[in-house]
Amino acid sequence: MTNSRRDFLNSGIALWAASLLPSVSVAAGPAELKESDPIAIALGYKKDATAVDIAKYPKRAGDAGATQFCSNCALYSAGANGLGGCTAIPGKQVAGAGWCNAWIPVS
Ligand code: SF4
Repeated sequence: MTNSRRDFLNSGIALWAASLLPSVSVAAGPAELKESDPIAIALGYKKDATAVDIAKYPKRAGDAGATQFCSNCALYSAGANGLGGCTAIPGKQVAGAGWCNAWIPVS
């Protein structure tokens, strides 16, 4: 067998083997928390803090409440694309513009 024929067969085998591998998508980070997630419901999380029902969550009512966002919560760590981590909700990303009833100020 000539080298060029062997190389051709080897490259074909490599392509065939690669096609058997599961496709892997590279994620930018943990998935974004959905408002329908049980922990989001339990905490009253909204990805748009202005959509919070302040009758149900008076903590976010008034001038002081209106300044509360995930982005200025002590449990938030900013990531990319307006999302970040929250130590109260491990394994998910929350919106910097969001809010939940566990909000605490940065001291
Ligand atoms: S604890 Fe803070 S960062 Fe986490 S979801 Fe609630 S307000 Fe946002």
